[in-house]
Amino acid sequence: MLTGSYSSSLVLISLCVAILASYTALDLAGRIATATGRAVYLWMGGGALAMGTGIWSMHFIGMLAFELPIELGYDLGLTALSLLIAVLSAGFALWLVSQPRLSCPQVGLGALFMGTGIACMHYTGMAALQMLPGIDYDPALFGASLAIAVGASAAALWIAFRLRRQTPYVRQIRGAAAVLMGVAIVGMHYTGMAAANFPVGSYCGALVGGLSGDWLDYAVLITTLAVLAVALLTSVLDARLESRTAELARSLTQANQELTQLALHDTLTGLPNRTLLADRIEQAMAKVAEQGGCFALMFIDLDGFKPVNDAFGHHVGDQLLKAVAARLRGHLHSQDTLARIGGDEFVLLVELQETDDAVGVADKQVNLVARPFRVADHDLQLSASVGIVLYPGNGQDQHELLRNADAAMYHAKSAGKNGYSFFDTSMNSNARQQLQLLQDLRAALEHGQFRLYYQPKFDAHRCTPIGAEALLRWEHPQQGMLLPDRFIGLAEKTGLIIPIGEWVLGEACRQMRLWLDQGHEHWRIAVNLSAIQFCHSGLVDSVARALADNRLPANRLTLEITETTAMRDADASLTVLQRLSDIGVDLSIDDFGTGYSSLMYLKRLPANELKIDRGFVRDLEHDSDDAAIVSAIVALGQALGLRIVAEGVETDRQQDFLTRLGCDSLQGYLLGQPVSAEQFMQGLKQGEEG
Ligand code: C2E
Ligand code: CA
Ligand code: CA
Repeated sequence: MLTGSYSSSLVLISLCVAILASYTALDLAGRIATATGRAVYLWMGGGALAMGTGIWSMHFIGMLAFELPIELGYDLGLTALSLLIAVLSAGFALWLVSQPRLSCPQVGLGALFMGTGIACMHYTGMAALQMLPGIDYDPALFGASLAIAVGASAAALWIAFRLRRQTPYVRQIRGAAAVLMGVAIVGMHYTGMAAANFPVGSYCGALVGGLSGDWLDYAVLITTLAVLAVALLTSVLDARLESRTAELARSLTQANQELTQLALHDTLTGLPNRTLLADRIEQAMAKVAEQGGCFALMFIDLDGFKPVNDAFGHHVGDQLLKAVAARLRGHLHSQDTLARIGGDEFVLLVELQETDDAVGVADKQVNLVARPFRVADHDLQLSASVGIVLYPGNGQDQHELLRNADAAMYHAKSAGKNGYSFFDTSMNSNARQQLQLLQDLRAALEHGQFRLYYQPKFDAHRCTPIGAEALLRWEHPQQGMLLPDRFIGLAEKTGLIIPIGEWVLGEACRQMRLWLDQGHEHWRIAVNLSAIQFCHSGLVDSVARALADNRLPANRLTLEITETTAMRDADASLTVLQRLSDIGVDLSIDDFGTGYSSLMYLKRLPANELKIDRGFVRDLEHDSDDAAIVSAIVALGQALGLRIVAEGVETDRQQDFLTRLGCDSLQGYLLGQPVSAEQFMQGLKQGEEG
């Protein structure tokens, strides 16, 4: 047997190369895992080349380190083949560890392939010596070298797979793993070498025409180092680039999140804004469509926020809003949405088990707001008006739902605030307009927007004017001239009718005084009294004052009270009417025939006039019943000694008929429309001329 020896420096170098190659391989495996698209294949190809070359050159340097007493050379073809085998094995290994999942059997099978590949490379490399006679391998050591190759491959595959992802200390762990793998590869090589026995008299067949010479080891070493260095450098640079890109992507994502937060949230309170709310409502509706169930939408408006804001300034107002938002938000489930959609307007979206649960939620919200808020050393008291809609039921889409919740909220507000209202169809969206109108009405008196129009009354037989009925008009700055039916109801509901009524009395008396001064001594001015005015304790006084202020004889003023008003609380009415009668004013029962007068009672009323309701006059020609009623009223009036007035006279035939029935005076569009005082006089003049 020829005994071989090793050049220790080359052995060391081969170990270093093995470790370096292992490190490169692990690094590249990590690279492949994070790469996408074509880069995966580029890294895999390049990686296979670098790693294959590395392992192969470790083996080749190991061979070069081996010295036999005879000269050695290497067959070019077989050497190249061993290199190819190394590259292919490396490529296979890299492909394997870049798979998303790696099971134990896969590792086993892969290790078998790879180990066999490495062994193949080694023994092909040995075969390149072309020894004659052939190398005599020790079966046990040969088997051991195979086992080491497979075992090392299994370890390498597993480590490479686990180390793909960036973990803390990845470089250190990778370095340690590379040392382990390098030692294993070197171990395999030298076990394989130990298995080889060269019989005495062996001759190296590759000496002629093969590779040989002292420069070979350096050439291989340098090329290998160059390849590995390029691979490693590229990998490191790319990793840097990637981490920078990742950093950039991270900050972009963050910026994006901040932008989304800004676009979908209210900056003051951080609550979702209208846009996000709309989205959540859509989602909630979709969920109901899919899974059933229901939800409630609550429109929460703060009562008394504006005064706080005005008194303490925006800064305190803002803090108060924040405090309200925080308190409301703090008592909700995470799946509920509380949004701020306007100054002091919030909307709450709550999923419900049953629709009845909405009461509890609304009650809680109202109570939460009613507790005082401590803001900037002030104890501030607010309340909330909440309008509730339920879905399904109160709307088809989010706009309708919100509109209806808003209407319900206004209902809650007008019902006295600090409470909630469930939407029902009677609260259409007019509610908001009504509230606006109410605000305008409050200012109307102060801004002098009321006017009195006058409609003439005529003596039925002589056709001469005997006075006028004063009818209220409101010159609304935006909506133009408004008729009483638009605002009297509102004025009555809010009590505003009292000051407005006083103004009417004063103005009507002033006008009548002018007419008196112009010589119309027998005229009377009629003023309508609403039920509210009639029940108001100050009525008699304000009538007396209006008369006195304008030096108007009491009997020049007719007060018109509807039959319904006069009959409501008969005894109380009687007292008021008696006192008015005592000061000498003329009294008229308006809209007569529409109420339920008892004859007994009518007899005791100190009235002077009955005004037949327009409705009877209108249908006079077509409806014989109405004709019968009108003649009955006339007869009744005459029996009680009352003047009979018919209003709503629109045609000549009505005029004739009513005159023949015995009405004393007539009023209606036929004879004159309600107009301003100037037009009134002009109209009368034209009537006389024409
Ligand atoms: P009313 O006391 O029955 O007043 C008569 C209403 O009939 C007036 O409507 C008048 O314009 C209208 N009218 C007059 N002639 C005709 C006609 O030939 N055909 C028809 N279709 N209508 C005619 P207006 O001015 O809109 O007033 C409506 C109601 O508002 C009044 O009914 C009265 O109850 C109330 N009102 C008007 N002014 C005042 C006021 O100053 N104070 C109070 N409390 N109520 C007032
Ligand atoms: Ca009237
Ligand atoms: Ca009337």
